[in-house]
Amino acid sequence: MSRPVDRSTTWPYEDGEPGAFVYSRYGGPTLADAEAALGELDGGEAVLFASGTAASAAVVLALLEPGQTVALAEDAYFGTGVLLDELGRWGLRHVEFDQTGAPPAEVDLVWLEAPSNPFLTMPDFEAAAAHPARVLCDSTAATPLNVKPLERGCELALHSATKYLAGHDDALVGAVVCGDADTAARLREFRTRTGPVPAADTAWLLLRGLQTLEVRLARQTESARELVDRLRSHAAVATVRYPGFSALLSFDVADADAARRVETGVSLIANATSLGGVTSRIEARARWEGDRVPPGLLRLSVGLEDVEALWSDLERALDRES
Ligand code: PLP
Repeated sequence: MSRPVDRSTTWPYEDGEPGAFVYSRYGGPTLADAEAALGELDGGEAVLFASGTAASAAVVLALLEPGQTVALAEDAYFGTGVLLDELGRWGLRHVEFDQTGAPPAEVDLVWLEAPSNPFLTMPDFEAAAAHPARVLCDSTAATPLNVKPLERGCELALHSATKYLAGHDDALVGAVVCGDADTAARLREFRTRTGPVPAADTAWLLLRGLQTLEVRLARQTESARELVDRLRSHAAVATVRYPGFSALLSFDVADADAARRVETGVSLIANATSLGGVTSRIEARARWEGDRVPPGLLRLSVGLEDVEALWSDLERALDRES
């Protein structure tokens, strides 16, 4: 059943007392519906934020103290490192580590990404769970259909729900899914005090996206696997990275110029950033990440288009390079 969007910013008191919903900065019915749906999917209590980045900022600002240290997976989403750098001004420290092994000792939060974007490595969940600090896993690219961090020993799962969960490139929204009610309450309190709450329409788009997540992801994954096989045998492609599930992959062509020609040479696939939506998109990541990635690295998010049409588009652009 489709549920209505409640765009109210305020709800009447009941017999002079605040009821379940009071003022939309605290939350509202549509947000609560979307939180319940995502919480069920990930096996915890979900708290929505205005973006994945707002969710990340809330975690460190609400759950850590100035001077504490985050151990961040070295190949995690570029923007997460940039955010932690920004918060360095407020006394937050961070170190990077190889998430395929154990996190460093003496840190206060371990930050994993499953799979990392755009290198597509998977964390060693067991080694991270053995660490005394709280463990968070950003499972944006996996979705709860492939990885449920709370079942793998993490205390927190984080999503840019902008990506697969909402799924149509029209809703900017983030979420933290907590293994315990106290942490969820703390994050909700922080969200209320600082204000990064998604609009009811955005929460509704997320709810609608979740209804089709399984079928979208099944088709996108099937196409991604097929494209990975074909990319692996193309002469112009050096390395293909793919974790074996979901629909995000990356591959290398000779250099930055070749990457530019390929990303601008496709036409069905959009030359645009982001991932997880129903339309495919490709981009050279060096434009954002500089030396952190090989100059010829292209990130491809596979959408719902016909796989043969996607391959023809890619092949045409790649054939010019071989
Ligand atoms: N985490 C991952 C893995 C991402 O790819 C992104 C965005 O690309 C984010 C977090 C940030 O999410 P948002 O763009 O919704 O702020």
